[in-house]
Amino acid sequence: MATFTRRVFEWPLSLDKDRNDRARQEPLARQGCAEIETMKPPTHLFLFTTALTLLLAQSCAAAPGPAEAAPVFEAMLKVDAHSHMFEDDPAFHVLFRRLNIQTVNICVNVGGKHLGRMHEIAFDLYRQHPQLYPVISTFSLQSCDEPGYTEKVIASLGQTFERGALGVKIWKEIGLVLKRPDGSFRMPDDALWDPIYAYLAKSEKVLYAHLAEPLEAWLPLDKDSPHFHYYSRQKQFHFYGKPEIPSHESIMVARDRIMEKHPTLVVVGAHVGSLEHDLDALARRLDRYPNFYAEVSARTKTLARQPSEKVRAFLIKYQDRLLYGLDAGWQPYFNALPPGEERRNAHLKLLETSYREDFAYYAGAGQTSHQGRQVEALNLPRAVIEKFYHQNAERVFRLKEAWERKPAATARP
Ligand SMILES: [Zn+2]
Repeated sequence: MATFTRRVFEWPLSLDKDRNDRARQEPLARQGCAEIETMKPPTHLFLFTTALTLLLAQSCAAAPGPAEAAPVFEAMLKVDAHSHMFEDDPAFHVLFRRLNIQTVNICVNVGGKHLGRMHEIAFDLYRQHPQLYPVISTFSLQSCDEPGYTEKVIASLGQTFERGALGVKIWKEIGLVLKRPDGSFRMPDDALWDPIYAYLAKSEKVLYAHLAEPLEAWLPLDKDSPHFHYYSRQKQFHFYGKPEIPSHESIMVARDRIMEKHPTLVVVGAHVGSLEHDLDALARRLDRYPNFYAEVSARTKTLARQPSEKVRAFLIKYQDRLLYGLDAGWQPYFNALPPGEERRNAHLKLLETSYREDFAYYAGAGQTSHQGRQVEALNLPRAVIEKFYHQNAERVFRLKEAWERKPAATARP
């Protein structure tokens, strides 16, 4: 494998650094979607991609037969079920098409301030490129204590469904930031949200739930943690020594209650459902709640640090319930000045490198490089890879109807 200098950054995959620098100084509710630590595009990307191509070619050559041949990255459709793309830039469309990637484009509530703009960009992108950018909408938390709030939210979400939204995102500010008038935290299972959840279930729309944080957010900082760089700088997300913040477990239990109260609501848990540290705990929930799914965005690096046989067995056992995602963000409209060519090109390279490294980890064999570490690739069976990388997302979000911009006509399983 080629060697090259890597540096680990804690900003979201968005290289929109001005926004991220600003966001670091802003209240929690205005942060971006997820914590992502990733690397700067390698200086010698060419060497990396060449080496990766050779590696994939070798693994193909070593495969026992056509039925078990390792999938070739470009040849297989991949759905990135957790993307934030908010600019109509042909360079991104070209990249996604060349890599054979289609996204689920997720709107996030950033204090409600940019929500209207974000929705407009997302639906415009979807209208122009329905196969690349199907939309998950979201809603504002502002004025949630006022009478008529849930009716207003339901009306606004209904409008997004008419424009083709496949589901609705809720973010970790529910459970970690938002409070009731009496000062207690408004948890994900708060009765306030029940009419909204019921409306989603009735409308057969997905609840896309990024709730809680990795467990490490509640633990002392650890230099060896995959999230160290993030929590060492994003202090407001680091809850160790802050007993007033609800525990990780209490948020998981609150999420369980959503699925108990709304058994026909399809819930996708973002970021391995915030249970990447305990796949057994996630497995118990997948067993208990048939309406629960999980995607792996921004946590592949955490999975890659765990024993490969355990992760592999988990992905095979729950092959119908897990979705691939990256959680890259590109939101240049946040900036007064759009990002220049250099930053734009760097982000494009970072996207490609990240998608290729993830694929080499899940679908490849032997040792592979992932975010600067040598890890054991999972070498998942072809049928599992097909489900994980696109078939499950197609089914859960009804992507085929979305790609054709047709109203959903078939019942979700
Ligand atoms: Zn995200």
